[in-house]
Amino acid sequence: MFELLKTDPHSKARLGRLTTSRGVIDTPVFMPVGTQGSVKALDPRELLEMGTQIILGNTYHLSLRPGRDVIRAAGGLHAFINWPHPILTDSGGFQVFSLARIRKIQAHGVEFRSHLDGSLLFLGPKEAMAIQRELRSDIAMVFDDCPPHTSTSRELRAAVERTKRWASECRDQPRATGQLVFGIVQGGPDTALREECAKALKSMGFDGYAIGGVSVGEPEPEIFKAVELTEPFLPAHLPRYAMGLGTPAQLVELVARGLDMFDCVLPTRVARNGTAFTRKGAISIKAGAFKADFRPIEEECACYACRPFSRAYLRHLLNVNEILGLRMVSVHNSQMYLKLMADIRTRIGAGTFGEFRREFIANYLPTRRVLSARANAER
Ligand SMILES: [Zn+2]
Repeated sequence: MFELLKTDPHSKARLGRLTTSRGVIDTPVFMPVGTQGSVKALDPRELLEMGTQIILGNTYHLSLRPGRDVIRAAGGLHAFINWPHPILTDSGGFQVFSLARIRKIQAHGVEFRSHLDGSLLFLGPKEAMAIQRELRSDIAMVFDDCPPHTSTSRELRAAVERTKRWASECRDQPRATGQLVFGIVQGGPDTALREECAKALKSMGFDGYAIGGVSVGEPEPEIFKAVELTEPFLPAHLPRYAMGLGTPAQLVELVARGLDMFDCVLPTRVARNGTAFTRKGAISIKAGAFKADFRPIEEECACYACRPFSRAYLRHLLNVNEILGLRMVSVHNSQMYLKLMADIRTRIGAGTFGEFRREFIANYLPTRRVLSARANAER
C-alpha cells in the first residue's frame, strides 16, 4: 500500500508512493482542501491540470449540508462532486471541538449543537466512520479529541485517553471497499503524551498516521516541536500526515522532518484577500506598487493565472471585486503549493533535497514579516 522509495541522506525527507483504490499518490504530497465538497473557487479540471493527486473533504460539514442521505443517493462523494480521483475525509473531530458548541463529551462521542442552526447532534467514532463509509472516501480519518493549544496538562491527558479509546472503536467499524484508515496522534506539546499516544495507535495497526493538534493557533516553534516529538514513534514503512499545515517554508521544513502528506486552507483562503505565494514569500497583489506592473505574479510560474495575466490586471480585478481576480490568485497559489511538492519529490529523488531546502529557506521571506512590512508601507 505504501512504498518508501528513497530517504534523504541528510534529513528525514522521504520519497514514497501511496496506492489507494482510486489512484497512486506520489509523496510528499499537498492535498488541496475541499471542506464543503469543493476546493474554493477551483473546478476539478483546473485541479487536475495543476497536478492535484488527492483532495480533502470534511465529514462534519458534509454531514450537515447537504447531508449524508443526499451524498449516499448520489453514489458517494466522488460521484457527487465529479472528482473520480482519491479523496481523504477528515473525521469531523477537529470541527466538533473548534466550531460547534459542545454540550457534553460522552464515553462514545460528543453531543454538540450545529454551528449553523443550533440543532442538537451527536458525533463519535461509530458515527464518523459510518459517514465516511457513505462518502466512500479513499482515506478515512479516525474520530479524535483535538484540544486547543491553551489546554492544561490535565485536559491534554483526557484528550489523549479519549483519542486512544475512540481510535480503537474506529478501527473496529466496517469500511467502504478499499478504504484506508489513518490514526491521529494527539498530546499537544507534551513529550510523554505524544509518545504514549503514538505507541498506542501504532499497536492498533492503522494504514497511516497523522500528527494532529498542530496548527491550532500555536507559534511556529511549537508546531515543529510537536512534529519532532511524534515522528520517531511512527512506523517508518507507513505514510505520515501533518494535519492542517502550513506555509510553503513550513512544508519544506516538515518534509525534512519526515512527513509525507499535507493539507492547508492557506492557498485559497489568503487568495480571497489578494495575497499570492511566491518562492520569495507572500505578496499582496492589491498593493499600490503593482498598479502598472505588467509582469505575472511569478515569472517562472506556468499556472493559468501567470501565463496570460499581469499583476496590474489581477490587482484591478481584486479592487473592483471581480470573481476572476480571486479565482486566478487561488489558481496560482494552489499550483505554487503543488509545484513546490513536485520539486521536492524531484530533489529527494536526485539526492539534492538538502541544497533545495537551504536555497528555498534562504530566499523565502517569512509570511508574517512580509505582511507586517506591507501594512507599515501602506500606513
Ligand atoms: Zn502562477
